[in-house]
Amino acid sequence: NRQLKLAARPFGLPKDSDFEIVAGEVGEPGEGEVLVRVIYLSLDPAMRGWMNEGKSYVRPVRIGEVMRALGLGQVVASGDARFAVGDYVVGLTGVQEMALLQAKDLTPAIPKAAPLPSFLGGLGMPGLTAYFGLLDICAPKPGETVVISGAAGAVGGVVGQIAKLKGCRAVGIAGGAEKCAYVRDELGFDACIDYKAGDLNAGLKEHCPDGIDCYFDNVGGETLDTVLRRINVFARIAFCGAISIYNATEPPAGPKNYLSLLANRAKVQGFIVFDFQDRYPQAIQDLAGWYAEGKLKFREHVVEGRLDDFRDTLVMLFEGRNFGKLVLQIGQP
Ligand code: NDP
Repeated sequence: NRQLKLAARPFGLPKDSDFEIVAGEVGEPGEGEVLVRVIYLSLDPAMRGWMNEGKSYVRPVRIGEVMRALGLGQVVASGDARFAVGDYVVGLTGVQEMALLQAKDLTPAIPKAAPLPSFLGGLGMPGLTAYFGLLDICAPKPGETVVISGAAGAVGGVVGQIAKLKGCRAVGIAGGAEKCAYVRDELGFDACIDYKAGDLNAGLKEHCPDGIDCYFDNVGGETLDTVLRRINVFARIAFCGAISIYNATEPPAGPKNYLSLLANRAKVQGFIVFDFQDRYPQAIQDLAGWYAEGKLKFREHVVEGRLDDFRDTLVMLFEGRNFGKLVLQIGQP
């Protein structure tokens, strides 16, 4: 069993020397446990935060510990009646080839329902993040304008589609003409602004003629600042992530236009998808239902490789080189 461990706390973008690959032992499953062969590893922006020291919503990965990761794999031995050999499951496998896991912490992936990697994407954690962040934190009303940064990504792509299903105007922000065309033409957003092409403020002015009622923020930084200039009275901001500053080597500056929050009596709320765990079943049912009806589309970006490709694949997220939910495939389904 090869395992990728955190060898050092990265400074800025992670380097190869921040990780080491070692051969580890994996035992037989006891009562309530299953042994899983990992096939797909989920690459998540949050992983960068988990590598840092300090207090957060989960404890940091320790030096010398297997890197935390969500993964999808196949059960090869089971000590629990809920899962049989051959079943596909999703859980916190870690960046390793085999994982011994508690059955109670796993969810099934049904290959007949959707391509397996989408259980790490739109039908998994990112889809749930989109669902709760939009519907609970932003709580948009029909006719309102919802702006979404990271709109071509795993979370953002789902947010805008749900906003449309709820009768809102959905305006995305993404990097590059190809991603914007996808967001508009494939996902059905009303508009998408290419923030790399130039004037984001002018784009927002053009595409949000009635201002911005909800902002689903995945990127923070300059983009957040520009959006703040155009929010409406009583706007709601779902603070989902801030990928533009995850690798910052100096303390990031706060938003310059934060007084707009006061003037507009706006509400900003950070949230973590795990807070909604008791409502996952209903959310998954809704997401899977919309998917089956063709009302929700996802895209996965599968990199075929080995554990050794973990760092290079992770960095793609921070350079905008992924197009859809990024997964590293290390085994055959
Ligand atoms: P994505 O699939 O959206 O991939 C990341 C994308 O971020 C890149 O493709 C790139 O898109 C964009 N990006 C990278 N660097 C920058 C930058 N400097 N400025 C602007 N955009 C940038 O990732 P996810 O959908 O998995 O995650 C999106 C966000 O949601 C992250 O912030 C993540 O931490 C957060 N998240 C939060 C959760 C929660 O519970 N709160 C749970 C899951 C995710 P482009 O090419 O368009 O620039």
